[in-house]
Amino acid sequence: MTQPGSTYTLDRMAATLALDEPVTRVRLVSPARARALEALGIRTVRDLVAHYPRRYIDLSSKETVASARIGEQCTIEGAIHDIKLKRPRPKLSLVEIGLVDETGVLMVTAFRQPWLMDSLKAGMRIAVAGKLEFDYGFKRMTNPFIEVVGEGVGGAAGMIIPVHPATEKVSTAWMRRLVGNALAQTCGAHDPLPLSLRAKYRLMSRQTALSCIHFPQAMGEAAEARRRLAYEELLMLELFLMREAAARTAGRQPVQHVTDGPRVRALAAALPFTLTDEQAAARDDVLREMAAPHAANHLILGDVGTGKTVVAAFALAAAADSGGQAFLMAPTEVLARQHAASLGPLFEAAGVAYGVLTGSTAPGERAAVLERFADGAADVLIGTHALLEDDVSPANLTLAVIDEQQRFGVEQRSCLLGKGAAPDALFLTATPIPRSLALALFGDLTLSYLKHRPHDTARRTTKVYAKQQRGHAYDAALAALARGEQVYVVCPLVGKDAGERDAKAVHGRSVEEDADEALHPAVSIEDDADLAGDDVAAATREAQMLQQSTFVDYTVELLHGKMGSAEKKQVMERFRSGETQVLVATTVIEVGVDVPNATVMIVEDADRFGLSQLHQLRGRVGRGEKPGAAFLISASKSDAALARLQAMETTDDGFELAAFDLSLRREGDILGNRQSGASVLKLVNVVRDGRIIEAAHADARAIVAADPQLEAPEHRALAREMRIVFEGERAQAGG
Ligand code: ADP
Ligand code: MG
Repeated sequence: MTQPGSTYTLDRMAATLALDEPVTRVRLVSPARARALEALGIRTVRDLVAHYPRRYIDLSSKETVASARIGEQCTIEGAIHDIKLKRPRPKLSLVEIGLVDETGVLMVTAFRQPWLMDSLKAGMRIAVAGKLEFDYGFKRMTNPFIEVVGEGVGGAAGMIIPVHPATEKVSTAWMRRLVGNALAQTCGAHDPLPLSLRAKYRLMSRQTALSCIHFPQAMGEAAEARRRLAYEELLMLELFLMREAAARTAGRQPVQHVTDGPRVRALAAALPFTLTDEQAAARDDVLREMAAPHAANHLILGDVGTGKTVVAAFALAAAADSGGQAFLMAPTEVLARQHAASLGPLFEAAGVAYGVLTGSTAPGERAAVLERFADGAADVLIGTHALLEDDVSPANLTLAVIDEQQRFGVEQRSCLLGKGAAPDALFLTATPIPRSLALALFGDLTLSYLKHRPHDTARRTTKVYAKQQRGHAYDAALAALARGEQVYVVCPLVGKDAGERDAKAVHGRSVEEDADEALHPAVSIEDDADLAGDDVAAATREAQMLQQSTFVDYTVELLHGKMGSAEKKQVMERFRSGETQVLVATTVIEVGVDVPNATVMIVEDADRFGLSQLHQLRGRVGRGEKPGAAFLISASKSDAALARLQAMETTDDGFELAAFDLSLRREGDILGNRQSGASVLKLVNVVRDGRIIEAAHADARAIVAADPQLEAPEHRALAREMRIVFEGERAQAGG
């Protein structure tokens, strides 16, 4: 029954090692395909095996052209009546297919997939899956999933077809075949999860889980597979965090900070306002942790505008009072500069010496700042990712503050903390996560919540308008300008950075977009051209248009992602000072920017944003004493998209909105990963997977308590796996 022990072990070993071989070891992965896979971040066999489907197409429930309902996701099978390639514009190609079944004709349009002309011919039977639209008298699908019927590829002959993220060079059909080969070659690999844990939660073996997540026979199987793999991802992360925390302070003496020194007191005296009760409590929490003999690991959770920065300022001053040094790291240049601008005067009044370091700091200035920090002359260094660089080496780092920490990865966090012996850590976040999840996601830490804003922002209103009613929003903006207030206009055309958009145009849809597919209308031709074309030009035109037509009596400026940072800084400065009154911006302003006189925000094409993102955006207005108004303009005719946006009108609670966004997701879309703290979490969704997270947290604790070095036989595979996953991470971050 069993094979001789030695052969069996050898096979398992070989299969396990095969996981970390280059992806070219997989059958049919030529050097050219390997290069194409690399574009998706797939380098090893393991990467390929973990390249999970972004969704599934359930061919077991098909509709006819006549029975399919407009506005819904469906699968329709038929014969290709005609197929042609069109090039309406130099950069735009589209394939148009007329598909017929016994009940009618369906028009299918596929943008930017000219290669379809090679694989599809008139007369072939295909199944298409996507959202049914209706226009110019035809039922229609745009960019649907297309499968040639009766030609099951790579194990996809079943009724459920996995759709893996693909590229122009490696189609989804090829991806299925390659993943299938990779699974076959690693069959028999060690399962890193100890049997006891698998039994405890009735989890599939890893091998079964991998085969079920890639090629499920039923949707229930995919869900079970995901449960197992998500648990594994989390257990690894928890173990990593706990061991890392232990290593960080092992044999080192964390500083017990002085928390009522002269700078802390001078800072309190210099504040132009009194702290709210919550802020004062948060300050006390942080300072108590800093004074304690262990290395603090403290998180302040507070919605946008709740005043987290000033609480952090007390921590920074305490570090200075204690003869230590501190970092304040923010995710964007604009934000880092803003911190310097708002905290600078307070620090000067309090006698805290500080410097600023970002990617755009000139070399000479950079050297001077680094020197002051290396010899201990400066107390606080405010900056961006630039702080992570090797030559940023403080003399005596005792505190690291990370603002908007959700923007940083686990690795970046530990890199910053690694610049001191056993520094205290303070994290600020606007991501609304409940206490238990925060505990689980960060290892062990203390928390403070800021639930209320210093100003009564209940006076901020949010209104959703259809595109043709947007005049109301611009009227409100003009009224605000007449009162001497300022206005943001956000247009997502310039939104994400161009690189990402280009990639999207080539790869079809991104995972994120796909997750929201049911909510977002299909991309129209105009939008599509905008995505591919020069979007800076589009944004510039938009700004000019607003200047010349709507806001003729005021000054309009544009802020977009491709601007140099000096230029960005100047634009922000002019807006802050009131020299310009209207800022046409991208999501650059999403995080933290603070201009209290700005009271109106208009978000064009609001349906392109997630609700949490919109919530962050609208947090930019109504920050001062004057009431604010946010207007969300939607071009979508879909009821679902409007209903989703209308949730913004009814609630001001970021956590509720995040949950609402999730509740709207399609059932078939079981794969989501928008808020994870680490890129190793491919399957976990921190909002929905609360119970799995907590279980993994508790289990990791028990394991580390019993076997800190993970040396016991049943933990060895786990330890090996954890090292590879996280070291792999590191290699990627470096390269
Ligand atoms: P966030 O939590 O989003 O980072 P900030 O720290 O940027 O918020 O604070 C938002 C605004 O509120 C800033 O202009 C800040 O100066 C102001 N502020 C903070 N605390 C108070 C307070 N207690 N009273 C009045 N204004 C405050
Ligand atoms: Mg902030």
